Amino acid sequence: MRMIDPNALLEIEPQLRLGAFIFIFGLMASLEFVRPRRPLSISKKLRWSSNIGLVFTYTILARLVLPMAPVMFAGFCAQQNWGGLNGVAWPNWIEMIVAITIMDFTIWGQHILAHKLPWFWRLHLVHHSDQDYDVTTGARFHPFEIIISLGIKFGIIAITGASPIAVLLFEITLNGMAIFNHANVRLPLALDRILRRVVVTPDFHRVHHSVIVKETNSNYGFFLSIWDLTFGTYVAQPARGHEDMEIGLDIFRGTTEQRLDKMLTQPFRPGIKSGIKPGTEPGKE
Ligand SMILES: [Zn+2]
Repeated sequence: MRMIDPNALLEIEPQLRLGAFIFIFGLMASLEFVRPRRPLSISKKLRWSSNIGLVFTYTILARLVLPMAPVMFAGFCAQQNWGGLNGVAWPNWIEMIVAITIMDFTIWGQHILAHKLPWFWRLHLVHHSDQDYDVTTGARFHPFEIIISLGIKFGIIAITGASPIAVLLFEITLNGMAIFNHANVRLPLALDRILRRVVVTPDFHRVHHSVIVKETNSNYGFFLSIWDLTFGTYVAQPARGHEDMEIGLDIFRGTTEQRLDKMLTQPFRPGIKSGIKPGTEPGKE
């Protein structure tokens, strides 16, 4: 059997990423239809057009601010011999596992900072102000948070020396997992129990979107669940159960707040006091 040349994969990077996105999105959206976990409270037409509108907005803005994609930047770092992994001669698959694990740990750490630093929380709360939880929530981020996240990715690529193929696999995995674990899907509970020992499942991450503060400030992982399980930030199930738990933020409720223009300005509302302890806005302990 012929092995796939990794460099050939890099040449079709945009098609691979888009193909994986459409496939996983289509699959999870269909499963949401067949096995929904909770009834939705806001019109799907409004939420989907706003959340997907946000994806177009940040994709265009990120291209303008940072024309170099992370995969391309990893190639640049390899040429410059930057990063720890460019200085060792380990087998490719080991380097890839090490790089992907470190990148996932970094994204987990970034997510904790997004909840702990008041200015970062202002941007990140757009992800949390969604009053429902489904496949489009996984792509709902303020454009400024996406740009900061890209900057952090560039930093960790330069430090680790992750190869372009490792970065490509990580990006596809992270995006795919975000769609998977934000899906409003009822997985068989036995399957959820097995999967969540290693990866983040929909029931695992839904807890993070609860209005209850200690639930919001838990389960930060997007891909591997091991970080939350190891470092004491894990809450197994929502106190009120998955069907009855309240999703979102108390300060941004109602249909109007689910409009694209409102979502873009949520971080800058005077109502959010700068000194407030991040994560306390929901106001429910
Ligand atoms: Zn969060």
